[in-house]
Amino acid sequence: MWADEPLRLARTIEARHGESGMSLILRAFQANGVSYSDGMHWMQLDRRRCLGNDDIPALAWGLRCDPTALAAGLVLKETGSAGAWVHLSGHRFSPWVAPGKMLTKLCPQCLRADGYASLTWLIRAVPACRRHGYSMTRQCGHCRRPISWNRPGIDVCRCLRVFPQAADAEPLETEVQAWIDAVHSALAMPPTAEPFSGSALPLAIRGMSVDGAFRLVEAFGLLESSWSSIPAARAKERDLRGAGQVIARGLQRLHALEADAGMADAVLACVHWPLIVLLAESAAAIPDLAAAKSLLELQRRNHTSDSRSRAPRIKSRDQQQLLDLR
Ligand SMILES: [Zn+2]
Ligand SMILES: [Zn+2]
Repeated sequence: MWADEPLRLARTIEARHGESGMSLILRAFQANGVSYSDGMHWMQLDRRRCLGNDDIPALAWGLRCDPTALAAGLVLKETGSAGAWVHLSGHRFSPWVAPGKMLTKLCPQCLRADGYASLTWLIRAVPACRRHGYSMTRQCGHCRRPISWNRPGIDVCRCLRVFPQAADAEPLETEVQAWIDAVHSALAMPPTAEPFSGSALPLAIRGMSVDGAFRLVEAFGLLESSWSSIPAARAKERDLRGAGQVIARGLQRLHALEADAGMADAVLACVHWPLIVLLAESAAAIPDLAAAKSLLELQRRNHTSDSRSRAPRIKSRDQQQLLDLR
């Protein structure tokens, strides 16, 4: 074979339900005795650039796999959006929520049991495993290096050892369990479905896209208090356990707001409003835009001269408006 000739693998493998596209690619290489770097070179893939729909036919031909299943599991750039949006499993995401990077995270227990990596692990909205709690990791437990797709096997690190299981993974908070279950369901369904209608989730995120709901929850949960420093909060969020705490806090605050109008001042004072502004400026779906605009209108009406030290005021009819967000 010539070095620049596109590779077509000899042996076919089937995509698993909910499998990430990179997991499928890595398993296909492994099944054919091809190293990741050789395979990527022969497939003419450069993971430093985000793949697009145009790349799928040749890639599926080379891998001998179903192009639809492959495309669903990859983070693909949206045609014509100049990098502002990507798609995963038919859902639209901002690159902040679905980065599509070379580095990744995984649950060693699930990987060992199932033999493939879930596409839900690709997004920030899922910082933990729905089955094993805070077992997810970005680092190999042996060599401590960041986990990359460039590795010898689906569950084998570059240090040639199987990723070790987390010895004492903390269980998920009730809200985070409901959230991660909903996100899993959402990514298995078309974007028109309403995955956030379960009773354990706040009414405010009903009807929103996964991207929009996550960004809203993040805006509500990022700061521990109205006095928290943003860089410190972002640093804590980089840790997967910290990212779970942001989601738990955001969902708890949205619940509190919907359950008790008396909590509104305290809750709205802790919202990181620039994230809501960003959501209003660039929303993945119409309901996300509507939710962000309604919140900003509430904040504008209740804004005081010093919103960091004094909570925005909110009246009970405003709280009802929040409940009505769709
Ligand atoms: Zn797991
Ligand atoms: Zn390692």
